[in-house]
Amino acid sequence: MLDMAPGPSDMAGGTLLTVAPTGAETAKSDFPPLPVTLEELVDAALACERAGASVIHVHLRDDAAEPTLDVGRARAAVVALRESTDLVVQLSTGGAVGDPEAARLLVLDADPDSASLSCGTVNFGDGVFLNRWPFMVELYRRMQERGIVPEFEIFDLGQIDAMLRLLDRFGPPSGGHVHADLVMGVPGGMPGTAAALIAAASALPAGATFSATGVGRTALPVAFAALAAGGHLRVGCEDTLSFAPGVAVRDNTQLVERAASLAGLAQRPPLSTVEARAMLGVTDRRGARRVAAGEAAAAAGGEQG
Ligand SMILES: [Zn+2]
Repeated sequence: MLDMAPGPSDMAGGTLLTVAPTGAETAKSDFPPLPVTLEELVDAALACERAGASVIHVHLRDDAAEPTLDVGRARAAVVALRESTDLVVQLSTGGAVGDPEAARLLVLDADPDSASLSCGTVNFGDGVFLNRWPFMVELYRRMQERGIVPEFEIFDLGQIDAMLRLLDRFGPPSGGHVHADLVMGVPGGMPGTAAALIAAASALPAGATFSATGVGRTALPVAFAALAAGGHLRVGCEDTLSFAPGVAVRDNTQLVERAASLAGLAQRPPLSTVEARAMLGVTDRRGARRVAAGEAAAAAGGEQG
């Protein structure tokens, strides 16, 4: 498999597509296609992988379809997604606005490939998405210890300085590569404009890569700007429920298909999951497990034989 891994030039030519299928903001009752059960999550993941996604950014819901940070559910989601797909599995440590820090840290116990690390506090509509510096440090260090690759979530320009401070004080992230996600157009954060995207992308350190997502109506301007600036794309029902003025999104797959076609038009087609892992520095825990399972099966077979 490693022989098929692309070189840096190939990866620079492709587009990493992340799907964020659920989020914590939208009620299932308001948007029935939202995946909230494990079965719906896996079905959405499979369809989005076929459409070109290579990373899935996961928020969990409970039996009442409300946001939860329950570690058991997180672990079940990680296992199910690894068994059913080749996607890089990224858990949100943001949870829902107002979730306690202790519960947000425990998400890492689910052993995802990657986890989000929000780089500062931001007004989030009427709420406050609190990310204190000591909490960011704790998240970052735990991810380093456990080999979990962070995705630095950037809601505003100054948060890139906070990310740089983390890197400066505590060294490179697990995997050694810095990848940020510019979350644009949140009411309270940076606007979803080409100018803001260029300002943020220009502030990233040399060698870093970025994805961008524009919330709501900023989805398309941000996607076009990101592709033009050499960036990557995050799409999904976490951020976008309107496909066009007056037209609701059908489901996550539709958004991934649109992103894949934009990437194709930009002559930067979607990266495979193998290429995505190589770019992000994500260890293939899934492969290791399959090898281990295969060896165990062979050993068991040998004993029986
Ligand atoms: Zn999220």
